[in-house]
Amino acid sequence: MAEKTILIVDDSITMRKILKHHLTQIGYSNIKEAPNGAEGLKKLEEEEINLIICDWNMPEMNGLQFLHTVRAIDNYQNIPIVMVTTVNTQDEVMAALKAGASSYITKPFSKEDLKTKINQLLNE
Ligand SMILES: [Mg+2]
Repeated sequence: MAEKTILIVDDSITMRKILKHHLTQIGYSNIKEAPNGAEGLKKLEEEEINLIICDWNMPEMNGLQFLHTVRAIDNYQNIPIVMVTTVNTQDEVMAALKAGASSYITKPFSKEDLKTKINQLLNE
């Protein structure tokens, strides 16, 4: 498997730990983390990111704002972005997809759920 870099944008340390643990077990060891959208943007500028997993509710810049901002930048239009939703509300999902999210995953999710989504998006 080619080494891909995944960025986790989530204000919850616990959630970042869970995601990182799952991703490592799935086979992705190159993981970057950011506690909010603003820090996430900085990470994107620092290095090449192949996929982003993004939370909704965060301080500074929330998930939807982050999504809009990232998609407005030419270089980042094709990065797969998976939104993590707490409740599978139709409105949230529609807003995310409209703003350019590639996919979404609803909490609680299993390692296998995550693996399926990510492998699809990275064509692996
Ligand atoms: Mg949050």
